[in-house]
Amino acid sequence: MDKDAVKEVFLPNREDCFKFLRKKRWYEKGGVKCLYCLSQNIHHNGYTTKGARKYKCLECGKYFNDLTGTIFENHRFFIEEMFYIIKEMETNLQISEELGRDYDSVLNFIMGFIDCLLNIARRLLWRE
Ligand SMILES: [Zn+2]
Repeated sequence: MDKDAVKEVFLPNREDCFKFLRKKRWYEKGGVKCLYCLSQNIHHNGYTTKGARKYKCLECGKYFNDLTGTIFENHRFFIEEMFYIIKEMETNLQISEELGRDYDSVLNFIMGFIDCLLNIARRLLWRE
């Protein structure tokens, strides 16, 4: 599978990721709250270049966005890429638990297998 296929077919929709994140982070906890003063007097203030909703607190004047203070902040990845990575890691973790093997060993095996598959696929698809 080439990287274009992963990006075009398997990545979740960006807005769906943000909707999920906003639901978990804000709406299931009573709405958007300022990260600095906890005020709910918040103005929605556009989007970051990566699609996170930006907010301005009308009490303390500070700015934050959907990703501020989360594990998704300050990465070069797009949100849908991070969701994809997490989903894949969960599967691998489950496999290691089911087999009673350590996570690194499972990951190493998978990476070797993927390398092998990619080589075969390249030869078949592109006749390299
Ligand atoms: Zn505030």
